[in-house]
Amino acid sequence: MFQKSRHIYPFFFLLALLIGGCTAESNTSEEETEEEMTQRALEIHDRVLTVDTHADTPLRMIQPGFDMAERHDPNETGSKVDYPRMKEGGLDAIFFAAFVAQDIRDDDGNTRAKALCLQMIDSIVASTSKNSDIVGLALNPDDAYALEKDGKRAIYIGIENGYPIGNDISNVELYFEKGVRYITLVHSSNNDLADSATDSDGPEHGGISEFGADVVKEMNRLGIMVDVSHGNDSVFYDAIALSKAPIIASHSNARAVTEHDRNMTDEMLKLMAENGGVVQLTMLATYLRDAPPNPARDSAVAELRANMKPASEMTDEERTALRQAFRELSEKYPDPPATVKHVVDHIDHIVKVAGIDHVGIGCDFDGGGGIQGVFDASEVMNITIELVRRGYTEEQIQKIWGGNIIRVFKDVQAVAEKLQSEGLS
Ligand SMILES: [Zn+2]
Repeated sequence: MFQKSRHIYPFFFLLALLIGGCTAESNTSEEETEEEMTQRALEIHDRVLTVDTHADTPLRMIQPGFDMAERHDPNETGSKVDYPRMKEGGLDAIFFAAFVAQDIRDDDGNTRAKALCLQMIDSIVASTSKNSDIVGLALNPDDAYALEKDGKRAIYIGIENGYPIGNDISNVELYFEKGVRYITLVHSSNNDLADSATDSDGPEHGGISEFGADVVKEMNRLGIMVDVSHGNDSVFYDAIALSKAPIIASHSNARAVTEHDRNMTDEMLKLMAENGGVVQLTMLATYLRDAPPNPARDSAVAELRANMKPASEMTDEERTALRQAFRELSEKYPDPPATVKHVVDHIDHIVKVAGIDHVGIGCDFDGGGGIQGVFDASEVMNITIELVRRGYTEEQIQKIWGGNIIRVFKDVQAVAEKLQSEGLS
């Protein structure tokens, strides 16, 4: 439910300035002014269900004193999502991912990962019950529509990185019972389930491991969506072959537009369409546009990273200092910004290759996502404005913003019901 607020218009004018020559590109009506087009886009944004399939906000929710019902200044705090800003941006539903960074793969590591994952899930559930006047915990596809009707934000739960499953398959059902509806099999490094697209040691299992295959099977049985974002290409092909239900990429872009191992090739996009799955576009600059080589910046970033503690071990002061250091670094060695135009270039490409039924949006706020024009949850309507500018219809926008992911979610549940009834007979 989109609330017209005064600060939208400065964004729109800024965006118009950034993009330039917009009205000439409009293929909806020669007479429509920029302001009329924006107004039409905002009305569409208000009417359609908007779902963001990936935010790492639970990392913040477990910090003492962080209140999701309060509006946070993103420049001061670095926070990209809270309930007031979801409302401002007209963002109806979100998947909060319980993200556990890959660490040692032994019993102690697995135990710690599980404890942290459960702590994050509990914090999501606690936040939704504490704020039940403005949000609701969503467990099924139609819950998003029901909550939207009530004027509340729908909060879904996912897990980013299968590491907290450890080597105990029963954990998959435990997480399902807690409300988890997708699991990203792997993150930045290989784990016991699958190979990562970005592990510096290269692949270990040749895609999904034997245990990972059991996990996919269990996810199919329960009705948890299989998320291949962060997996290497073999993980994608294995997931397509193994999963009895359509799969998702909760936050990935198109490799033909921006060359990056985290992005998906055209062949993968076509297979995703055949599979009936969906690719959710993400707002990370490095996956959205090519930047010219910037070795001075790279070495400065590497130096900063080398001296960095894990985020979960930092004090508030250390976090603020780190943000400041990154800000200064970016001012000293600027990279060209990623913009909403880049986002919609990726959407255009995926629509061309896979079709309108296989693309969606997963911003990755609080996990590195946030670009010029879609800096935090309060600005997501700018994606709709750019879609309308390029001639997308309301029906198409409704699919991109929520219809497609909800369809996949329903298909995944239908497969689970079938598998469970077969299991009983
Ligand atoms: Zn991620």
